[in-house]
Amino acid sequence: MSGSLHARHRLHDQVGERVSAPSVEQFEVSLKTPSGTVTAPVSVPAGFVPVSELVPTLRRLGEQAQALEERQAASAGLAISCRKGCAACCRMLVPVSPPEAFSLREAILSMPADRRDRTLRKLDEARARLARAGLLDRLHQVAESDRQLSDQDLEPVNREYYALRQPCPFLEDEVCSIYEHRPAACRELLVTSPAELCQDMVNNPVRPLPVPLRVGTVLALLWSELAGGATRLIPLPLAVDWADRHAAEGRRTWKGTELLQKALDHVWRFLSQGALRTQD
Ligand code: SF4
Repeated sequence: MSGSLHARHRLHDQVGERVSAPSVEQFEVSLKTPSGTVTAPVSVPAGFVPVSELVPTLRRLGEQAQALEERQAASAGLAISCRKGCAACCRMLVPVSPPEAFSLREAILSMPADRRDRTLRKLDEARARLARAGLLDRLHQVAESDRQLSDQDLEPVNREYYALRQPCPFLEDEVCSIYEHRPAACRELLVTSPAELCQDMVNNPVRPLPVPLRVGTVLALLWSELAGGATRLIPLPLAVDWADRHAAEGRRTWKGTELLQKALDHVWRFLSQGALRTQD
C-alpha cells in the first residue's frame, strides 16, 4: 500500500454567535510518492457534503507532493522557469474533473455580480470562438462521452485546440483571474526548460517536471465511482456549462469521511500503479 490514514481527533461543533459550524474530523494522511513521503493533517466535515468539498484537500495533497518533486529538481540543479505573467501554457486545453467543475461553478457563482457576469461573458465568447473554429461540438462530445476516452482519442482535439492559441477564458492580462480556483492540471504543469520554449509546447523540447500525483485524474476516478459512467475530464472552456447542466448531481451529498476514504483509495491506487510503472 502506498499510504496510510490515521484518525487524529474529532473537533466538536463550534457554535459561534451567528453561525454553527459543522463538526469536522481530522486525520493524518501519509502518501508514499515517487518524490518522497507526504504526511499531512487533513480535515473533513463529519456530516454529509457534496464532492466539491473534497477538492481543496486533494489539491493541497497534490501540491505537497509536487513540492517534493520541486525540491528534488532543485537539488539536481534544475530551476523552475514558470513565473507570474508568463502564461504561454494557458493556450492549451485544460482537462477538468467533474468535482473541480462543480467547485469552479460555485466559485464563479459566489463572485461579486459584475465580476461574475464578466467571467460568464468571457466563457460565452470562448465557446463562440470554438464554434467558429469547428471545435465546440467535438469538445461537447468529450465532456459528455459515455465511453472512456484514451489519450489517443483526445490527442487530435488537444492538438487542434492548441493550434488556435486561444487564451484560456480565465486569463486576464496574462495572469490567471481564478488563481485560487484554477484546476489541478494548471497547478501541475511546471517546466525546467527555458520559458521561451513554451511558445510552442508541441514542437519545442519543453521539459515539464514529473507530476507525482495527478489530482484531476484521481477526482475524475472518484466521480466515476460515485456517479457511475465513464471517467471523464471536461475541457475547461465547457466546465462551468457542464457543471450547470449537471447541477443536481453536484448537489448530491455523501458522508465526508466516506468521501475522503474513497478519494484516498484512488490516490493510493494511482501511486501504486506509478510505482509499478517505475519498476518495469
Ligand atoms: S485556469 Fe488559469 S492557470 Fe489554468 S489555463 Fe486558465 S488562466 Fe491559465
